Amino acid sequence: MTDQYFYPNIWGRSILTSAEEILGARGINALLNLVGLSDYIGNFPPDDIQKAFPFSHVAKLQQGLYDMYGSKGARVFAIRGGEETFQHSLNKYDKVQKAAQAAMSIGSTETRVKLGLNFFSKFFNAVSDQVVRIDEDDKNWYWIIEHCPMCWERKADEPVCHLGVGVLNAASQWATGGKKFRIQETSCTAMGDEDCIYTISKQFVD
Ligand SMILES: [Zn+2]
Repeated sequence: MTDQYFYPNIWGRSILTSAEEILGARGINALLNLVGLSDYIGNFPPDDIQKAFPFSHVAKLQQGLYDMYGSKGARVFAIRGGEETFQHSLNKYDKVQKAAQAAMSIGSTETRVKLGLNFFSKFFNAVSDQVVRIDEDDKNWYWIIEHCPMCWERKADEPVCHLGVGVLNAASQWATGGKKFRIQETSCTAMGDEDCIYTISKQFVD
C-alpha cells in the first residue's frame, strides 16, 4: 500500500526521540521491530521539515505502544511524546513561535486560547498533511482532525489518539503561561467516528 499523507520529518523524529527517552534504547528497538519499522533503528528521520514521515508509520508506532504497554501505558507514553514533539517543533520553527507569541500577547485567557488554537491549526495544516479545523460552543473548544495520522487504518473500541492530547496540553499551557485545561479525545476515527475530535474545556484547572 502506498502512502499518500505525511508528517514533516521533524515530527517523526520527535516521536521516536521522545519514545527512546522514555523506553530506553532497547525499548525503542523492540518497538520498532514489533511494528515492522526496524529501518529506523539507529536511523531516525532527519531533523528537517520535509513532508516524508508517512501517517501509517505514526499509527504503527502508536499501535506498538498499545501492544507493548496496554491502554494505560500507551496513553502515558503518547501524551508525553506529544508534549515533547510540540516543544521540539517550537524550537525548530522559531519564526512560528515568535508569530504565535505576537498573536497571543493580548486579551483574556479565553481569547488567547482561541487565537492559539486557530494559529496552530493553520500551522499544522501548512506543514503536514493532517487537516485540522476548530469549533466551539459555550463550554468547550473542539480540535477536529480529518484523516488522522495517529489512528490511520486502526480499529479500536476506545479513543487512541493520545499523542494529540499531549500536543494540545503543551500548546495550551504554552499559550496561556502554564494554565492547565481538561483535554479529552471524545470522538475517534478508529472507533468508527467520522473525525477525531478533542474536547478542550473552557474551564481551566488552575
Ligand atoms: Zn485519530
